[in-house]
Amino acid sequence: MNFQKKLRGVRLAHRKYTAHSSPCVMPPPSLVTIPMSMHIGALAKPIVKPGDTVTVGQMIAEAGGFVSAAVFASVSGKVKKLDTMTDSAGRVLPTVVIESDGQMTPTEELSPREVNTPAELSDAARDAGLVGLGGAGFPTAVKLAAPAEKVSYVVINGAECEPYITSDTRTMVEAAELLAEGAELLSRIYGADVIFGVEKNKPEAIGALQSALAENPRASVKVLPSLYPQGGEKVLVYNCIGAIIGEGKLPLDVGAIVLNCTTLAKLMEFLKTGMPLVAKTVTVDGSAVKEPKNVICPIGTPIGEVIEFCGGFSKEPRKVLYGGPMMGVTVPDLSYPILKNTNAIVALAEDAVLPEPTECIRCGKCADACPLMLTPYAIASAVKHKDADALSELSVGLCMECGCCSYICPARRPLVQQNRLGKSIVKNAAAKGGK
Ligand code: SF4
Ligand code: SF4
Repeated sequence: MNFQKKLRGVRLAHRKYTAHSSPCVMPPPSLVTIPMSMHIGALAKPIVKPGDTVTVGQMIAEAGGFVSAAVFASVSGKVKKLDTMTDSAGRVLPTVVIESDGQMTPTEELSPREVNTPAELSDAARDAGLVGLGGAGFPTAVKLAAPAEKVSYVVINGAECEPYITSDTRTMVEAAELLAEGAELLSRIYGADVIFGVEKNKPEAIGALQSALAENPRASVKVLPSLYPQGGEKVLVYNCIGAIIGEGKLPLDVGAIVLNCTTLAKLMEFLKTGMPLVAKTVTVDGSAVKEPKNVICPIGTPIGEVIEFCGGFSKEPRKVLYGGPMMGVTVPDLSYPILKNTNAIVALAEDAVLPEPTECIRCGKCADACPLMLTPYAIASAVKHKDADALSELSVGLCMECGCCSYICPARRPLVQQNRLGKSIVKNAAAKGGK
């Protein structure tokens, strides 16, 4: 596949209203609900029981396999119950519910750590319960276990291309020195060049990183166009190192590890303090939010309480999303918790809703916008005919569900949903022994 001969993607209104909002710490909630899956891979296994006393940073669930992640208490208090919840994708997940004592007492067993090899760095990420904090929640330890000789570049994702979201921006501004230390560590451990990919609409973050990295010849900032989706892994790698990641391939296949900038900051915090991943900076914004801001809250905090901390709703929300309007997932109700990979809660009022779809007019705009040069209108037609062979030929598996095609479509066709369906048709056909 030969993509990106010209810049593709869509220009969006950035709506980065909170770009200068320094994150503020919200008071501990009275209750946190912590799911045993906030990552790709096997469920974590609870190691606490109702009535147990826990402290902040204490492990409450161990990783359930190589591709999995441990889970830690985000408040101090008592385990109320082991329960279940149905997540946004309809999966029933075990949870640990903790009643906070309001003290936020840290666990006593925290200590800094020194790492010198990929294996040691990977172990640290595992012990910190780290997952990709910018997106799907892939366990960081698995990425970092790559042997040094296979890694030529570490690409740090600071694109943050979705409208509204500014939590990574604040990390890059406020933790630039820590990120520079992280870059030095990564260069030393992997013998790799470290490139921070940042959209040009974040001048404060670009400036902070450039001055923090000034003394390191192996680290640099790549200023990317403000064109959604610069943060998509394939797009980012192409724009930072010029390599194309093919269908079914990983960044490591082109000699790269990709880490989100907040993931790197949390990894460095863990190395310095021993505190695992227990809290997140979350952008709370959208047309229905009274006082948009960046908030630091314990993982497991009910979303409703985070919104209340931002003054509550100014208008009736039509939709509340985990993440931004392009790739965000609907929050089923406001009792749902902040997750490890939640970087934003966006609440949209009635007026933000899209009109009903009409017939495809074959204008080709969806294909022109696709950063991976797919043909969404043709994929939709193959989905209609459940044609797995055609879908494979159309490389539907490459689709990163960025939403550019749906956004640009004048007929408001639900193209991303069609692409998702297309991927499952191909998967099911493969499982039955077809293509
Ligand atoms: S959702 Fe998929 S098909 Fe649509 S623009 Fe993005 S990558 Fe292309
Ligand atoms: S943009 Fe919409 S109307 Fe135009 S070809 Fe694609 S699906 Fe059809």
